[in-house]
Amino acid sequence: MTRRTKIVATVGPASESPEMLEELIRAGVDVFRLNLSHGSVEGHLERVTAIRMAADRVGRAVGVLADLPGPKVRCAAFPEGGVVLKAGDVVELAPGSASSDASRIEIEYPTLLSDVRAEDQVILGDGAISLRILQAAPEVRAVVETGGRMQGRPGAHLHSERLRLETPTDEDLVLARAMADAEVDFLAVSFVRGAADLRRVREVVDGWTGGLVAKIETSPAVEALEEIADEADAVMVARGDLGIELPLEDVPHLQKKIIRHCVERGVPVITATQMLESMITSPAPTRAEVSDVANAVFDGTDAVMLSGETAIGADPVRVIKTMARIAERAESESSYRRWADRLGRAQRDLMDVVDDQERVTFAITHAAQQAAVDIGASAILCCTRSGNSARAMARFRPEARLVGLSPNLGTVRSMTLSWGVEPLQVDTYRSIDDLVWFAVERSVGSGVVKHGDLVVVLAGEPKRGTGGATDVLRVVRVS
Ligand code: PEP
Repeated sequence: MTRRTKIVATVGPASESPEMLEELIRAGVDVFRLNLSHGSVEGHLERVTAIRMAADRVGRAVGVLADLPGPKVRCAAFPEGGVVLKAGDVVELAPGSASSDASRIEIEYPTLLSDVRAEDQVILGDGAISLRILQAAPEVRAVVETGGRMQGRPGAHLHSERLRLETPTDEDLVLARAMADAEVDFLAVSFVRGAADLRRVREVVDGWTGGLVAKIETSPAVEALEEIADEADAVMVARGDLGIELPLEDVPHLQKKIIRHCVERGVPVITATQMLESMITSPAPTRAEVSDVANAVFDGTDAVMLSGETAIGADPVRVIKTMARIAERAESESSYRRWADRLGRAQRDLMDVVDDQERVTFAITHAAQQAAVDIGASAILCCTRSGNSARAMARFRPEARLVGLSPNLGTVRSMTLSWGVEPLQVDTYRSIDDLVWFAVERSVGSGVVKHGDLVVVLAGEPKRGTGGATDVLRVVRVS
């Protein structure tokens, strides 16, 4: 069985050795995520090189996603070994970055005193510990509502409406340029509030051909989902911060809504955070985690993501194998044909909201989906310069295998995030006939199709009147 849902794994101390990266690719990682909230730029650049080398050794296209920190507010460091905050304790909050303890927590946010108000909630860490502001002036005092152990420099979450921080931050823009120069395939932008935030990142990475991933984790982003998805190259349902910013019980519904919108528009979508959290320390996931991963697959997500599980977990390879098994099993129960039929019917409405070039791509991929079903094609071979037609094809979640072929290595890697797309590099071509031949030959060579199979091939010629959109659909009997 070939897994169609992609796996994104965060690299960290538990997974950054060359041998481990190679093992993780063999176990099923499609995209590695670098969490730029931790570590140095030099360290991340070394990881990019190590990932590229491991992918070459395995002979598979693997993407690299650099996740920008965004305006994350942190507490100053707690003492070695941490401190325990108990429900009912009253603590002082103060702006600063020197140190924190159980009675006074310094928060690295200079305008804290003027920005918080009595009754505001402040969440520390990943949401486990919450405080309620009792008084905001002349000094900020808060009562611990949910207690727990605080160690290191945990994040401090103040409601985004109160925060006077810009996203992307100046630090994000510097990191974005450095990562674009290192030719990462995706840059994730944290705490996006609208399409304009993404455009600010695009301006500084001028000339870079990778994709911007918009992390949906604030209420303004949920409100602006349509314009964000139009501007982004991919979207992440960042459930960690989303569940802090909005009521936790809203998260599953937002996940479904975001995934549905993105899949319809051909924008790859990643479901992230706490998917197999217990496997950071335990060899087996909880039943609830297994259901969560399966439900994300049923929702139609392109990719599922692992954070601490592979960055600092006890057994990252086991985590990937577990994730792959759950996804494959869920895919075998998913009603993709019904999804394609529904999307096919909705296609006409979509035509009114997309531009000319997209209209051609959407129409021809719809035709390819129908043709593949009608002739029982074993594969759809999507020849693409930008990856757009492969992403548009993936919208239909075709039963036939979906191969994305491009002469451009960056495009090949950009397809690593898209549901079901098996990315392959082909030689540069001079004519459509050449291209179709290369595509079939390469797909036979890599074992995706075999002699006697019927395949649907999609291609496009830049000089044609359709402005480079995919405009050729051919049915080929592999011989
Ligand atoms: C999230 O909030 O779910 C997320 C993925 O972002 P980060 O890891 O930066 O907190």
